[in-house]
Amino acid sequence: MVDIKSMTPEELTAWLKELGEPAFRARQIFKWLYRGVTSFEEMTDLSKALRQKLEGEALLTPPTVARKQASQEDGTIKYLWRLADGNCVESVLMRYRHGNTVCISCQVGCRMGCAFCASTIAGKVRDLTAAEMLDQVLFTQMDSGAPISNIVLMGIGEPLDNFDTVLRFLTLVNCPDGLNIGMRHISLSTCGLTEKIDKLAQYELQLTLSVSLHAPDDETRSQIMPVNRSVGVEKLLETCRRYFDRTGRRVSYEYAMIDGVNDADWQADLLAKRLKGAPAHVNLIPLNEVEESCLKPSRRVASFQKRLEGHGVTVTVRRKLGGDIDASCGQLRRKEMNETHRQEKRG
Ligand code: SAH
Repeated sequence: MVDIKSMTPEELTAWLKELGEPAFRARQIFKWLYRGVTSFEEMTDLSKALRQKLEGEALLTPPTVARKQASQEDGTIKYLWRLADGNCVESVLMRYRHGNTVCISCQVGCRMGCAFCASTIAGKVRDLTAAEMLDQVLFTQMDSGAPISNIVLMGIGEPLDNFDTVLRFLTLVNCPDGLNIGMRHISLSTCGLTEKIDKLAQYELQLTLSVSLHAPDDETRSQIMPVNRSVGVEKLLETCRRYFDRTGRRVSYEYAMIDGVNDADWQADLLAKRLKGAPAHVNLIPLNEVEESCLKPSRRVASFQKRLEGHGVTVTVRRKLGGDIDASCGQLRRKEMNETHRQEKRG
């Protein structure tokens, strides 16, 4: 069985040719896939015979809504999707002035081990397919009725740890006959896998690279992000400078403010010093509390911001959306896992 929705238009055309079908069928089918059909039966302008043939040869893996939480405050909607194999991942729809944005997952779980993050607690189960990433965008759009114009790869998982598939996904959302979302409307967030950042740079994509920095010094960063133990801050920032040189795209740095861990004045000073030399943008994120972690949100966000700005750094503080619905990365999936676990114990 082929994963038909993970195919590019060219691959689909070649595959259908092997089945003895003319090229125009590929375009017809491709368009149907992006209308969110959940079976080949729904592709009503194809012959019955072809639909049956597709049924026998190709796989569709639409997700279903396992849970859905809508914020009363700002219209944010969080989806927990059940995938075809029973695993769950999350997406979040956020309504900004510049357009509706969906934050999607790229893996079931994560193996990066960041101390503050709910997604990584039970490790990584598997990578998502390009179709499963695509369907998060498509089905969020269909369920909510909100046309999606922006995508952020900031949900569960590490995009650069699923590199080839993420690249395929990016190609697919770009297709004019598909979602037709341009690279400038896409952000990809990474915990900082330097070799993969170098690899990504070679494609010279116009997307925004966000790097989860969270600390300017190795001692702190290694404590909260195990990935830092093999490649330290200095080398990471060098890689980001190379990325800018190659792509011309300013790198964005995420910095979740954690009480007593990374919010001291000296850390703001060091951060500013280390970011010198290439255009950068720092996004301060108020930490979302995770049940299983003892880390607390910082109370020094405003003064940290001021201090960075005093050094000439461009800083924004992320507006908190969906605070009433556990909208932080991986929390809804954790909840579902915990409850299923409790039920299993009881039963
Ligand atoms: N693996 C990628 C993308 C997923 S996480 C990465 O590390 O960037 C998306 C962003 O949310 C990252 O910046 C991550 O560090 C941040 N994040 C995770 N848990 C958080 C929490 N509890 N509070 C605030 N930000 C969090």
